[in-house]
Amino acid sequence: MLRRLLGKVDDGRFGRALAGMQADWQWQCKERRAEYVEGFVRYGSKQYMVVIERRGKRYVARCGCDDAVKRGVLCKHVAFAAMSELGLAAAARSAHRQLQVLGR
Ligand SMILES: [Zn+2]
Repeated sequence: MLRRLLGKVDDGRFGRALAGMQADWQWQCKERRAEYVEGFVRYGSKQYMVVIERRGKRYVARCGCDDAVKRGVLCKHVAFAAMSELGLAAAARSAHRQLQVLGR
């Protein structure tokens, strides 16, 4: 479902979030529930709090950066947080599958 949110991030910001992945930005999740995720995106001396919340069929995302606050757009930090959560979920599924194989 986070992929739908990522689809709404414009190309430039999506690209900068991908570049953040390459540059080892950190995603530190503080709270994760079925419909809610909250944490920090960190790189260099910067830190931004990101919240992504599902309301019905749509996601509402917030970030403390100027891009999100002043322009009201889905910023690169929100994109990075969503990518990170998708990556963590995929890794968890993959690890689970490997454990099942080992358990046979
Ligand atoms: Zn931001």
